[in-house]
Amino acid sequence: MSNTDWNQSTVAELEDFLKNKIVLPGTEKYPASREGWAATHNQPAIICLCETTADVRAALALASKKNLRLSVRGGGHDWQGRSFAHNGLVIDLRNLNTIEIDAEARVATTGGGVIAQDLIAAADPYDLIAVVGTGGAVGVAGFAFGGGYGLTTPSNGLGADNIIGAEVVLADGRVVTASETENPDLLWGLCGGGGSFGVVTSLRIRLHPAKPLLSGFFAFPLSETETVLQGYNKLMQSAPDELNVLVSAMSAPDGSNVIAIVPNWYGDPEEGRRVIDSIRKLGNPVMDQVSEIRMKELVESFAPFIFNGHGSYIRTRWIADFTPEVIAAIASAAAHKTSALSTIISAHLHGAPTRVPLADTPFGLREPHYIFEAVAEWLPEDDANSDMHKKWADDLIEQVAPYALPGGYLNMLGNEDKEQLANAHGSNLPRLQSVRKKFDPNGVFSREQVPLAR
Ligand SMILES: Cc1cc2nc3c(=O)[nH]c(=O)nc-3n(C[C@H](O)[C@H](O)[C@H](O)COP(=O)(O)OP(=O)(O)OC[C@H]3O[C@@H](n4cnc5c(N)ncnc54)[C@H](O)[C@@H]3O)c2cc1C
Repeated sequence: MSNTDWNQSTVAELEDFLKNKIVLPGTEKYPASREGWAATHNQPAIICLCETTADVRAALALASKKNLRLSVRGGGHDWQGRSFAHNGLVIDLRNLNTIEIDAEARVATTGGGVIAQDLIAAADPYDLIAVVGTGGAVGVAGFAFGGGYGLTTPSNGLGADNIIGAEVVLADGRVVTASETENPDLLWGLCGGGGSFGVVTSLRIRLHPAKPLLSGFFAFPLSETETVLQGYNKLMQSAPDELNVLVSAMSAPDGSNVIAIVPNWYGDPEEGRRVIDSIRKLGNPVMDQVSEIRMKELVESFAPFIFNGHGSYIRTRWIADFTPEVIAAIASAAAHKTSALSTIISAHLHGAPTRVPLADTPFGLREPHYIFEAVAEWLPEDDANSDMHKKWADDLIEQVAPYALPGGYLNMLGNEDKEQLANAHGSNLPRLQSVRKKFDPNGVFSREQVPLAR
């Protein structure tokens, strides 16, 4: 079959072409093929395990002929399971997983389904790193398309700021390049506009030198939450580019609730030790660990805290400042978690990404701010209490809402957060809408189109 006639071919021809790559409900492969990070009730009608751009084009034509809504699955970490369209067709990109490193140009060319830990492992021998977050199994594309708050973002920008090119299959089957010279408006849209233009089969990503990396983990008792967060907030007001700090109100392995401050320093280790020591002194840590590591190990260090298949519900806000009211809300919610697995997570955006002009990408907030998440998580056997866990997250978000900025982090907003979604791109929204209309006129890839089980 030639490269151009998928739209003319019949369902039978398309199914025949994709035959060993189609997974249907009731088959042995199906349960594992619809597993991602979140437990989801979504039951796709067809999952296409695509291996090539031609497979993706055939899968798109099949969805169109069968009149199925579709979703695109990269790393499978969307918390609402939006990459698994209920009763729809899933374009699964996990087998588009090649990685080429051009060490001289400091560029990685990756398949559309590559995950963070594989990219970091591939770049490591060249003493290079990519901007990735805490989830090693998170898709590089999905992370960056929504923005991408990474572990070296204060130095190296958001994930979105590091996309320099892509191959995209549009809804009508056309394969286009997005680069500074070819379809630059499509490239602009991909850098934080969500995966709402087409199926990205390949990405070109800027890499950065693997400078020394210091990683710390301090767990403070909950009784110290307010002092620790006040000190942390003060530190963040003038945080240098080398410093990235995650905050997590979480349960320690012994079951006690703690406030964890997790700094990583990317640069001169001597200076890093001094700064990290000042973080240690924010309180009296009950767990205290600092080590010099590779990015590969830093990403791996988060794995013991990440579980697939749990119930989850996430609410998010952008917050300019940890005011006393915000800190009091965090302290109270941390003390009254309804599930040991639930967490309150935050990180501060400063440095390089705040120096990018707002109009340069669709990402909606370039002022320094906190990304703030109330993450309700529970075991599948605790599903009967899901409303209680969700209410815990809702209550916390309601308390911080008066101190929050409009919009929010696209990747963590739920489909129900309509007002925040409308503000997530700030003044970039009109341009983003026109680029979406140009490349996906029927909204095939818009997140509102992805059917979810209720
Ligand atoms: C445990 C965990 C840790 C996380 N850590 C961070 C973090 O540190 N920083 C941060 O910013 N975010 C983080 N996230 C959020 C994460 O970046 C988003 O959930 C992201 O969308 C996941 O991408 P994915 O490919 O894994 O997910 P998927 O569910 O596979 O995809 C999500 C959506 O991305 C789009 N998409 C993905 N790949 C493609 C493609 N090739 N072409 C077109 N569209 C595509 C599709 O619209 C798809 O519905 C984390 C999430 C989890 C669950």
